[in-house]
Amino acid sequence: MIIASLSHIIMVVGGRCGVCRRNVSQYYGAYSCSVCPNYTVHTRCAINNTIWNFAELEGTHEKIEDIAPFKVVEHNLIRHFSHSEHTLRLLEDIVNIHDVYECIQCEACLRLVEFGPVYSCTECYFSLHEKCANLPMEKRLFFDPAPYTLRYDNTIIYCNLCGMLNDGFRYTSQGIRMQYHYVDVHCASLSEPLVHNRHLHPLYFLETNDNYCDACKRARADYMLACDTCNFSLCLYCATLPEEIRHMSDEHPLTLYCGGKGNGKNWCDVCEVELDPSKWFFACSDCEVALHVQCALGDFSRLMPGKLYTVGERECEVVLNNLYTRPFCSHCRSRCKAPVIFKDNGEDNRYICSLSCLSSYLCIDFC
Ligand SMILES: [Zn+2]
Ligand SMILES: [Zn+2]
Ligand SMILES: [Zn+2]
Ligand SMILES: [Zn+2]
Ligand SMILES: [Zn+2]
Ligand SMILES: [Zn+2]
Ligand SMILES: [Zn+2]
Ligand SMILES: [Zn+2]
Repeated sequence: MIIASLSHIIMVVGGRCGVCRRNVSQYYGAYSCSVCPNYTVHTRCAINNTIWNFAELEGTHEKIEDIAPFKVVEHNLIRHFSHSEHTLRLLEDIVNIHDVYECIQCEACLRLVEFGPVYSCTECYFSLHEKCANLPMEKRLFFDPAPYTLRYDNTIIYCNLCGMLNDGFRYTSQGIRMQYHYVDVHCASLSEPLVHNRHLHPLYFLETNDNYCDACKRARADYMLACDTCNFSLCLYCATLPEEIRHMSDEHPLTLYCGGKGNGKNWCDVCEVELDPSKWFFACSDCEVALHVQCALGDFSRLMPGKLYTVGERECEVVLNNLYTRPFCSHCRSRCKAPVIFKDNGEDNRYICSLSCLSSYLCIDFC
């Protein structure tokens, strides 16, 4: 569904049409979206009735309300809707408190809080990146004309766009696309054209039935981000990978690499299998450490360790896999490699290593 503001007819130089993907030149009229400044559509593409639904268009963009996600209590002190029991203080200089914050994750995006300014609870360890604390309460996502609302509760969602479980902030909608009822903040942050630091050209959404991701080589039957200049496509999981992570196998931060590192071969420090240089991986720029994306992050990297959930009929805990010996997975019987795993609290020493093992163990189909 294409939505653009009829009131903003401008001549656009450069860019690509959001419908036909061809260049928008300065010689043809184009509509540009009043909300997403980079979104443009050729006049002739926009007026094509098969893609332009006038009934739904009227006023839809203007319905998004600008509701603040927090109230300011005093200078640098806020009360956020997601943590109304305590106040959060803005800390600009995370370096001074690094010892404590080294392993604290943002409740919204689940990434470490060491990167960037952070709102930190004055009474507990609840933390939000400054940009996550400012996520809009209402937002329109790329695939649906209905507005999405920001929510946070003690549940796990399965985001169909990236195929990951998530217990952070999520956007939810009563829209027409029920398979995307819940969207995590990573996928919700994507818009087109996407300029990704690991690809030269801008990327555009493509709804596909069978397409290989050039970063992970997995087939996806869903939205992807594609480059038509060089036939490159990226699944939304890879498109939302962090560019830098911490992993217990190295004291340095690890960076997302594409296309090989150095001249020699690289072996994964977790599984000891040789890395395929055609797939993206994480590696240290200071030493030899390199890891498969899957070994570095696992399937539960978007869950908060320490939280308890009832999954199926069982009480499960999200735990860090940081014991001296790695436990065996109760389903596949191999040692758990992922840094975050599930523990079945109803039984002694029962651990689950991956999404597919969790799905089989609990007889739940997540998709
Ligand atoms: Zn965050
Ligand atoms: Zn608190
Ligand atoms: Zn997602
Ligand atoms: Zn991928
Ligand atoms: Zn390209
Ligand atoms: Zn590996
Ligand atoms: Zn290193
Ligand atoms: Zn397993």
